Amino acid sequence: MIIVMKSGSTKKQIEHVAEKIKEYKLIPHISKGKETTIIGVIGDERILQNVPLESLPGVEKVMQILKPYKLASREFKKENSVIDVSGVKVGAKKVVLIAGPCSVESEKQLFQTAKAVKEAGVDMLRGGAFKPRTSPYAFQGMGEDGLKILAAAREKFGLPIVTEVLDTRHVELVNKYADCFQIGARNMQNFELLKEVGKTNKPVLLKRGLMSTINEWLMSAEYILSNGNMNVILCERGIRTFETATRNTLDISAVPMVKTLTHLPVIVDPSHGTGKKHIIDSMSRAAVAAGADGLLIEVHPKPEEALSDGDQSLLPIEYAKLVLSLKKVAKAINRVI
Ligand code: PEP
Ligand code: MN
Repeated sequence: MIIVMKSGSTKKQIEHVAEKIKEYKLIPHISKGKETTIIGVIGDERILQNVPLESLPGVEKVMQILKPYKLASREFKKENSVIDVSGVKVGAKKVVLIAGPCSVESEKQLFQTAKAVKEAGVDMLRGGAFKPRTSPYAFQGMGEDGLKILAAAREKFGLPIVTEVLDTRHVELVNKYADCFQIGARNMQNFELLKEVGKTNKPVLLKRGLMSTINEWLMSAEYILSNGNMNVILCERGIRTFETATRNTLDISAVPMVKTLTHLPVIVDPSHGTGKKHIIDSMSRAAVAAGADGLLIEVHPKPEEALSDGDQSLLPIEYAKLVLSLKKVAKAINRVI
């Protein structure tokens, strides 16, 4: 951390800041220039994160050097983390494919989808049983009945299942059925929920918040990690910008950026990221080319009858075609699908 003093700050003010730093067992390094004085803080500055140093008399500004997250950082772990979801390795050479409907609607609908995506080469099945809907009047999900259908699909098709947990009150229940928790964009900063899933050892797919910076996203991952669960998979799903032609703006640049900052795997959800089914294929290829460790895509056997996100859901045949084209992109960057 570097503390820049105001020009004309007094000796007493500089000493006061230095004393404050020493109170936290850190070492102040004072460097006096002609006009300003700079105080370097030696030691792990994170301890000062919530200390209002800028309010001390004579202080101009405080600049943090170390990242506010620790366990999630590349500095903490140099090599890529590989997260094992019931045998499927996320973050290894294979780009992991996750697909399924937005919501579980019936056994027939889920089984039909699972069969088709399995044939297309999918690694994991997704489907929401608890749905975070903008409108309270929209379909809210099948709840535990939906979880039971997901578990039956896992048995029948041998695919691990990813499903959203919306509320701390449901963590135990969802934990009973799912292979991987999904924390949705709207809940990325539901810190109590993050702590609860952090206390389990089940993998967590953590979506980026609708309006969250990469830093905030990694701080949310830190909540899970610091509660003891190191099995976090990040998922870029688009952020809200001024653009309205697409549902969200899919931030492909977040993939290589996040990978420089963290050892955690990062996957991309071009379905929610774009909301437009005709551009999901190109954005999927872009995501793989950018180094994504996986793709989460919504597929529905009858999108026009879907109870949620039908407009952005691919038909199984469209998904199968997409997977074929992705194989070529993966090969070009020395990965496999
Ligand atoms: C979903 O995966 O269906 C979903 C609701 O996603 P998000 O939280 O990214 O909006
Ligand atoms: Mn959806």
